[in-house]
Formats: sequence, structure tokens, C-alpha cells
Amino acid sequence: MNKCLWCQDGGLMEKYHDEEWGNVVHDDYKHFEYLSLEAMQCGLSWNIVIKKRKVIQECFANFDYNKVALFNENDIQRILNTPNMIKSIGKIKGIINNAQCFLKIIQEFGSFDKYFWSFSNNHVMVYLNHQKGLWETHNDISDKLSYDMKKRSFKYLGSVTLYSYMQACGMINDHELSCYKYPILLNEKNVKVVD
Ligand SMILES: [Zn+2]
Repeated sequence: MNKCLWCQDGGLMEKYHDEEWGNVVHDDYKHFEYLSLEAMQCGLSWNIVIKKRKVIQECFANFDYNKVALFNENDIQRILNTPNMIKSIGKIKGIINNAQCFLKIIQEFGSFDKYFWSFSNNHVMVYLNHQKGLWETHNDISDKLSYDMKKRSFKYLGSVTLYSYMQACGMINDHELSCYKYPILLNEKNVKVVD
């Protein structure tokens, strides 16, 4: 079975690709999980984040943003002392801060999901140029989302990071043309094909 080249490690990366990457997400807990993993990834390879995913999940209360928003100095120390954790105090504080910003969005929009999908007018985007090898690292949607989230005080979520988040949670179908998941995701509701 043909798959995106980047995922073919026969292990965790491939499992992540097969079971999650690009599947449409409408669950706020999953959104917060992906946002936190993407923030943790800044400056590292995605492979490292996937390997450490379980320990990151344990450090951040299974990505329950209600709990993470209340983390204090003791929690920061606990996380820093956790074996195999990515020991970046900036990122740890950033994720706690992001949980607080995330809750404010839920208060304002009803859910983070509603806020997030409004940026593509609820469309799953397919860019035909990408399948010709013209991949992007960010685009107009990720630029707008990043600008708005920055205004709302989110940290570690620039346009490039948010673009990969949008790929992960299915707003952009960036599976390779030969990948078995590409046509499957074309069957999602509200697909918008852009030349
Ligand atoms: Zn793929």
C-alpha cells in the first residue's frame, strides 16, 4: 500500500500517519492535544515528539485544557523533573498559557472547533499544486490564524507551526497523491479544491 514518504519508519510515525494524520478533527480535547504537540515540536523533529508523546501526555493531564490552565509553579517543576520529558521551561509555560487562551476562545465561540474551522469556512482544503510538488510551509489561512491567535496571546504557534497543525487535523489534505489516504479524505464533507 502506497503511503506518504515521510511516514515510512515501520513504527510510530507510520502508525500516526495511518491512524491520525489528516483525519478531520472536531473534538476540542484533540485540538488541544495537537496544538500542544505542535508547540512542543518547535525546533525539534516531529519524530522526537511522536516518540515522547506518551510522556508529554502524562505531564499535561492527558491534554485536559481545564486542568492544564490551572497548573502552577509546582506543576512546572514536576514536568521539568519528569524523565524523558522535553525540558523547555518556555514551552511548558507556553502550553499552560495556551490552555488559558483556549478556554477564553471556548467562552467566546462555544468551542475551539467552531473558531478554528471558521478560518476555512468549514472546508477541507485540497491544493492541486501541492500534488505537483509545490508544497507550502504556510499559507494565507495559517497566516490569518496565527495573526489572530497571537492577538489572543497564544505562544509557540506561528504560521508554519499552525500550517502543520492544519494538515494534522484535516483542514488541509496534504497526503501525497500516491498515498492511500489521499482519496479517502477527498470523501470528507465540504471539500474545496483549489487550483
Ligand atoms: Zn499519506
